[in-house]
Amino acid sequence: MHPDDLKTIWECHECGRKFFYHSDIANHSREYHHSRVVSKDYSRRKAGAEFLRRNVSLSFRIEGRTEKLQIECKYYPAAESIEYTSVSYSDKKLQEMIEGKAEMMNKIDRYLRQLFNAKGTQGGPEIH
Ligand SMILES: [Zn+2]
Repeated sequence: MHPDDLKTIWECHECGRKFFYHSDIANHSREYHHSRVVSKDYSRRKAGAEFLRRNVSLSFRIEGRTEKLQIECKYYPAAESIEYTSVSYSDKKLQEMIEGKAEMMNKIDRYLRQLFNAKGTQGGPEIH
């Protein structure tokens, strides 16, 4: 594992795809010969800044099954930044559906921000 994994989202500058893991962007670079890669650092913040921690489970329907994406993250309100501490998928297909798809990653990022900003609301998150 790359030390910046889960603190950073990697973005291919040539096609805009995004990845949670450094190894995945490295594979993408090799496969598509896209060598311009940028990282988006979600962990940049003041030392000692307060954060909120949350464990979020998102459900997805894939071919009639319900699969889950489990995210553990910290939100730093002052910096409005999210740090992903753990990301896991119940299904390989789900991972492929999400990683590498900029709009899905953005959707999840927006959803998490809403979650942290909406105090006291607990919903059954469903992203399709
Ligand atoms: Zn690319």
